[in-house]
Amino acid sequence: MMTLPRVDTPHTREITLEQTGTFGQSSYRIGDLQLFRDADPAQLAPLLASCPIIRIGAGQPVEDPARARMYIVLAGALAVAADTESGMADGSVSRILPGESVGEQAVLDESANLSAMSAIVDSELLVIDGELVWKMIDLSGGLARNLLRMLSFRIRAANALLRRRQKLGEFYRQLSMNDGLTGLYNRSWLSDMLPKLVATAHRAGTPLALIMIDLDHFKMFNDTHGHLTGDDALRAAAGVISVALRPSDYAVRYGGEEMMVILPETTELLAVLVAERLVARMREAPIFPDMRLPLPHVTASVGVASLAAGMDEQGLIAAADAALYRAKHGGRDQVAL
Ligand code: GH3
Ligand code: MG
Ligand code: MG
Repeated sequence: MMTLPRVDTPHTREITLEQTGTFGQSSYRIGDLQLFRDADPAQLAPLLASCPIIRIGAGQPVEDPARARMYIVLAGALAVAADTESGMADGSVSRILPGESVGEQAVLDESANLSAMSAIVDSELLVIDGELVWKMIDLSGGLARNLLRMLSFRIRAANALLRRRQKLGEFYRQLSMNDGLTGLYNRSWLSDMLPKLVATAHRAGTPLALIMIDLDHFKMFNDTHGHLTGDDALRAAAGVISVALRPSDYAVRYGGEEMMVILPETTELLAVLVAERLVARMREAPIFPDMRLPLPHVTASVGVASLAAGMDEQGLIAAADAALYRAKHGGRDQVAL
């Protein structure tokens, strides 16, 4: 039986380390602590006898001196916020429960603990100074193994966190560039990318074509079938456009029921063929699987323009717009140059 000395601060109290008992009742078994599992308690107890046990009230921070030490939770629970210098600080907090420890990494690389720790509920912590941890590593292979296991677990958890964050970052990046209804690129993507695509085409002397698409009598479609079905039709139209394109082409929702396709390195002639194909497929696209209406149900008018010498992106859009206007006036459901 090993009894720790009473330490002279109001927050410490006497703890029996060797006694069998449950956490939170002031008696703890060394073997119940993760770090000492598989280690010989008789070997380590004399060293632990000098370690203070501190009590931290619920919500209170653990005042950590700027030197490496480990804390083992004997009772209660700690919240540990990810350290602020690794760029991992984003409000993610891990919970350290009885038997678990925190600070082993600081001890091993002999640095200060960068994590902010606080007690979630009234807690009791066994404090082991860095130097003592090293002494125990020299003494006990079991303890060294436990430490390695704990570190490997921490690395895995950190990697998983990084992967999750990467996915989240990608998700938000997509969200800011894509239209929520159709999944096509949005206007802000267009204002960022079209000038670049135009500049590249001018610099490389390659053709660049733009197809402007406007759904026909779409106000009437909404009035007849309702706005929700109108949304379905917009999604279906976006789907028709997406599957008809090459990977190097870009489909954009320009606004309302107007969409746009940008075709780098594509001649006007080829763009007209692509546009004809789009108009034909649009005419036949089902809006929803059980649609009983007689075909066709949604048609589109399309204007095609290609980048001329000295033309900027505004000029290119205006040219496609003018062509679209002619397609509307020509009777809709058709392509104009
Ligand atoms: P036109 O053949 O001349 O293009 O006629 P139109 O009715 O398509 O043109 P107009 O510009 O008068 O109407 C466009 C309609 O598109 C009106 C608007 O309610 C509808 N619309 C725009 N955005 C959405 C949307 O996100 N969802 C739905 N359901 N309808 C939309
Ligand atoms: Mg319109
Ligand atoms: Mg329209």
